[in-house]
Amino acid sequence: MARCTGARCELPVSSARRYDLVIIGAGLTGGLIAAEATRRGRTVALIEAGQRFAFANRPAQLRHHQIFGGLLWPHAHAERDRYTDSSHRSIGVAYALESHRLKGVGGSTMHWGGRISRFMPTDFRTASLYGTGMDWPISYDELEPYYSRADWELGVSGSHHQALPPRSRDYPNPGFPLSVDDAMWLPVAERLGIAVYPSAFAINSAAFAGRPQCQAYAACAVCPSGARYSADVHVAAAERSGLCDLFDNTVARRIDLNAFGAVRAVQVSSLENQEREIQGTNYVIAAHAVESARLLLLSKCGNHSDQVGRNFMEHIYVEAGGHIADKRFYPRRGGYEVLESLAYYYGDDRRERGGVKIEFTFEQDPLNDMESHHIWGRSMARYDRENFGRWAGIAAETEHQPNPDSRVSLDPEVVDFFGDPVPHMHLAFSDIDRRTQRQARDIMQQLLGQAGAKDVVQDPLTSNSFGAHHLGTCRMSDDPDKGVVDRNCKVHGTTNLFVAGGSVFPTGGAVQPSLTIAAIALRLADHLYAT
Ligand SMILES: Cc1cc2nc3c(=O)[nH]c(=O)nc-3n(C[C@H](O)[C@H](O)[C@H](O)COP(=O)(O)OP(=O)(O)OC[C@H]3O[C@@H](n4cnc5c(N)ncnc54)[C@H](O)[C@@H]3O)c2cc1C
Ligand code: SF4
Repeated sequence: MARCTGARCELPVSSARRYDLVIIGAGLTGGLIAAEATRRGRTVALIEAGQRFAFANRPAQLRHHQIFGGLLWPHAHAERDRYTDSSHRSIGVAYALESHRLKGVGGSTMHWGGRISRFMPTDFRTASLYGTGMDWPISYDELEPYYSRADWELGVSGSHHQALPPRSRDYPNPGFPLSVDDAMWLPVAERLGIAVYPSAFAINSAAFAGRPQCQAYAACAVCPSGARYSADVHVAAAERSGLCDLFDNTVARRIDLNAFGAVRAVQVSSLENQEREIQGTNYVIAAHAVESARLLLLSKCGNHSDQVGRNFMEHIYVEAGGHIADKRFYPRRGGYEVLESLAYYYGDDRRERGGVKIEFTFEQDPLNDMESHHIWGRSMARYDRENFGRWAGIAAETEHQPNPDSRVSLDPEVVDFFGDPVPHMHLAFSDIDRRTQRQARDIMQQLLGQAGAKDVVQDPLTSNSFGAHHLGTCRMSDDPDKGVVDRNCKVHGTTNLFVAGGSVFPTGGAVQPSLTIAAIALRLADHLYAT
């Protein structure tokens, strides 16, 4: 087995076809760009570390998970996906990378929640407005047409509300109504004078783009019907064009860059240890923030100002809940929970803290109660009689400021299946992050108090308190000393290498990131293939 010794990997060469575009990662970003490029007649090599999943297997996957537990998607490969983590030293908990990503065709959207948000126009200008974070080199207005296109690509169901950013086009599908439970918060919101609205979802409220209407099984992390969007849809569209070759179970291990800043080839290995190089005119790394940074570091590429891997951001979910004895809720019945609020996103104190988005939740699953309280039989029945349907919760999605110490680096000792250094995770909070989280706790206490909740419990930070939103590590800046890619996602100092995905975000906002990721992917496709 060949081993890598530095910037270049000593692998045998077996190149065949030369493509217009080589994309690393067949997730949301890679799938969208592949579909756009092939629509415009370009040939594409799509390199994906993980496997394909057969759509017909989804019900069996779900059954297996319900009976035996474990991963919903059988994607993990222990040696390929190895990583190390020292986050507990700075934030007190480990970062469970494996449960916060999915490697396979479709990427992490295979088991995402599909909750859709645009970034606020202010998120692009936090340094100018609040003296925190960093301004993006592009504005909300510049990205807006791509947000609207992304809504239609993903088949978003939503209804516009004045609290949401301005939009130039309607959603493709009508929004989901508030659930019976959501409605409980309306009088509370009115009393407090805060705007609440139903969130948008990349789930079909009506049949759309050949996928059916949501059937309300509430098994959305798999979605046996396909009503919830996943990026395998765009990968399939690219393949149907006859212009896209998908290399699944194939890991990109090095970018081979010449002295003039042009990529010559990507060197890849299959899980059967077959090695080859793949060549193209342009190259896009779309391997999510952790692996995109790792590949650049392994390739000694783009790190001229020691920025690659730095400023890793997540969304920290601060959660609380309490009993409301005089109400009866019907979790997972009567529609699912869609209510949220941006009332605390802004405020006079924004120089001291980051954004906070509130999501209201009644999610309660007797099977989870059984697991977490170790109860069974009569005691479980008693517990459920007393508690089920009486619990109202709030999850506050909080902003994580860019911080150079919060980073992905190469582990100097541990290697993966191929002998390459694994990613080392180290998440860090700054004072402002801690203030944001404290502020979120105060807000939730107030909201639950107003709702008449008793026994309010503020959940501690755990490894599950993250949104599985990987941001930063290859940030966008016109200044090569402050970032890794320019406004068009091109790696500074290179001629044909691009990075796309949450990795290029200079700041992370406090809303779900994937519509912004999709918008940036569509913008990059336009930049590459304007004609
Ligand atoms: C449980 C969960 C719930 C989520 N819910 C939401 C939500 O409700 N709303 C929202 O906006 N976002 C949500 N997200 C986040 C969302 O899934 C991601 O933001 C999105 O998928 C990122 O797209 P991407 O293309 O950058 O990465 P991915 O979709 O993860 O795709 C990256 C792909 O690159 C591949 N890859 C990595 N390294 C290599 C390599 N060296 N060679 C070849 N291939 C490689 C990976 O295998 C993967 O398939 C959720 C994520 C998770 C895990
Ligand atoms: S409720 Fe059912 S059909 Fe709708 S998105 Fe979830 S799993 Fe799919």
